[in-house]
Amino acid sequence: MSEHLYPVNDLYTCVQGEGVQTGVAMVLLRLHGCAVGCPWCDTKETWEFAPENQVDTLAAALGANPRYVYLSATAIADYIQANHPGPQWVLVTGGEPAQYGLRPLVTAIHNIGLKAAIETSGTEVGHVDAGFDWVCVSPKLNMPGGKAIQPAALAVADEIKHVVGRQQDIDELDELLTPALKPDVHICLQPVSVSAKATALCLEVVQQRGWRLSVQMHKYIGVK
Ligand code: SF4
Repeated sequence: MSEHLYPVNDLYTCVQGEGVQTGVAMVLLRLHGCAVGCPWCDTKETWEFAPENQVDTLAAALGANPRYVYLSATAIADYIQANHPGPQWVLVTGGEPAQYGLRPLVTAIHNIGLKAAIETSGTEVGHVDAGFDWVCVSPKLNMPGGKAIQPAALAVADEIKHVVGRQQDIDELDELLTPALKPDVHICLQPVSVSAKATALCLEVVQQRGWRLSVQMHKYIGVK
């Protein structure tokens, strides 16, 4: 059977700038493709699979651009091992990475001795039963792509990181918080686009509820 191939848009070493794992060094693996359509998305270049943007080598895909290359899980892991020593984690993100079956990728990451984390919108279930060591669901509700949040995607979350601009966003999050979630799930509120008004609202609610503030550290210290 041929190996499963993943469309890789970018791959680099960074420091996690958001959520519970803020400050942890990670290899960021960005998979191409997303149909959710968030208006504030800062990786819109990953949305479309234009044939002219498919390239043959990872070197040609790297960087913030719409190019992508199909690689096997083993090839991705081998590249990380050879070129990105240091971090103990690989963060699989996108795009929407959970639209792909991710168990082969997680297995390959584990085989090189690293831990695997994912960041997903909760609209797909490719991370469920894939063996991730950390699952962060950032639920994208009522977005133009019309994709619904999947309860199975949320049920395995170690962290729910919710982007907040107004009170309605808190109310919508409350509707998602059911007993089916992991009992020790971390709830993080993240002000949209580093807005002062949204930050004030998030500060108020995390103190009321005993939740956590996520402030997109990378935007304050000027790194990607
Ligand atoms: S789910 Fe993520 S990649 Fe997709 S549009 Fe929203 S922010 Fe962008």
